[in-house]
Amino acid sequence: MLPATGDPLFDQSYYRATAMAAPQYETLSGDHHADLVVIGAGYTGLTAALRAAELGMKVIVLDEYFPGFGASGRNGGQLIPGWRWDARTIVKAFGKERGKAIFDLSLNARDRVMARVAHHHIACDLKPGHATMAWNPSHYRDLADEAECLARDMDYSDVDLLSPDAGRSLVNSALYHGGMVDKRGGHFHPLNYALGLAQAATDAGVKIFANTRVIGVTEQKDKVRAGVEGGNVFAQQAMLATDTKTGRVNQRLGGFAMPILNYNIATQPLGADRAKALIPSDMAIADTRFVLNYFRLSADNRLIFGGGEKYLPSMPASVDAFVRKHMLQVFPDLEDVKIDYRWGGAVGVSRNRLPHVGRTDGGKIWFAHGFSGHGALLTTLAGEIVAEAMAGDAGAFALMSSLPSKPFPGGTLLRWPLHVAGMLYYAMRDRL
Ligand SMILES: Cc1cc2nc3c(=O)[nH]c(=O)nc-3n(C[C@H](O)[C@H](O)[C@H](O)COP(=O)(O)OP(=O)(O)OC[C@H]3O[C@@H](n4cnc5c(N)ncnc54)[C@H](O)[C@@H]3O)c2cc1C
Repeated sequence: MLPATGDPLFDQSYYRATAMAAPQYETLSGDHHADLVVIGAGYTGLTAALRAAELGMKVIVLDEYFPGFGASGRNGGQLIPGWRWDARTIVKAFGKERGKAIFDLSLNARDRVMARVAHHHIACDLKPGHATMAWNPSHYRDLADEAECLARDMDYSDVDLLSPDAGRSLVNSALYHGGMVDKRGGHFHPLNYALGLAQAATDAGVKIFANTRVIGVTEQKDKVRAGVEGGNVFAQQAMLATDTKTGRVNQRLGGFAMPILNYNIATQPLGADRAKALIPSDMAIADTRFVLNYFRLSADNRLIFGGGEKYLPSMPASVDAFVRKHMLQVFPDLEDVKIDYRWGGAVGVSRNRLPHVGRTDGGKIWFAHGFSGHGALLTTLAGEIVAEAMAGDAGAFALMSSLPSKPFPGGTLLRWPLHVAGMLYYAMRDRL
């Protein structure tokens, strides 16, 4: 169990309760020098740091709290190949050749995560398989079109379409109208993946400082300075891996993504038989609603369920009640089951739902954020390829940073009401 932080949306989490042992990291004070300073110790920052250290750089990581405190330690643990855009949208927007290269980049992300888990022996309860379940018959036809496009245009045949009847072997709920399995998907304990990365980075020579909030990052003539209360890190390059909090360090970049709050619960242990009766496939499951339900079984046979989104910054009065109603809609038989844990966090969402990855005009500050609920795999890719680009291999970075991006209209003040209006419209369409 990690120490309490005072944030109820972290402290009451199943992941905190079952976290692997983690060291106490020092707080930075005084002036330090490095080749690379990374701000933020989630998957993005930790993989950038780890890869940079492997490539010979001296790296310092600074986090306001500690590794895994952000979305990386709170997410649904669903490993979903691909992007938030489906394959058909990618082909339409980029054409077949470039579209396939972009899709393949997401498979590269998946392979990199698997390689990290295996290479560093990260004990993160990794299990195979991800299924997307159709909310209605028209969504099922949509999944069928998607499977066809994946096979035809992406040369990707690791998906299976399951009819409404066969779909019960994936998820035993009467709510769904069939589904699509991605065999290269999976699920894991997200916080333990982050803590495992932090340990691997430390082993590779990275120096991590916790409880160290960066106040500003400034590009100077021949270096960059990350300033904290009572100290600085001077480096050749900086990586902003601050996800939903990027705007506090760089207001312009912050305008490219916004936080959407999302919550999870974990039931009491259900026992192997009852758990298997709910999700016979033991895969990660998400459905096709705009405000989606996503769920999976934990290693100790709890149901971990995420559902509902909140567009206003206040917490729901009861996270249990807020999420449980969605869980009971999928699994009405769980009425008698106790909720043991609840938690939540901010999903960094970009305007077009593609990650925003790049470097500033001055060239010394690199950034990656706005993974739009698809960050469990893509962040490891982003972090690693930024480090590789710094070391001179810009191939994958060039492709990822060429994805289109636009700031939200209205700047940091007005983006919220404008975006909320749009999201509420789509959420309402689900109910019609
Ligand atoms: C509830 C929830 C469920 C999700 N479910 C899934 C899922 O099932 N599958 C999936 O693919 N994706 C999911 N996501 C998205 C995924 O978790 C994120 O895309 C990913 O973790 C982002 O990683 P990151 O390293 O970029 O950011 P984070 O993990 O948020 O890390 C950012 C770090 O920066 C630090 N920081 C911020 N500002 C400063 C500063 N000024 N100085 C120092 N440090 C700073 C923070 O403390 C934090 O540790 C989910 C997200 C949430 C919140």
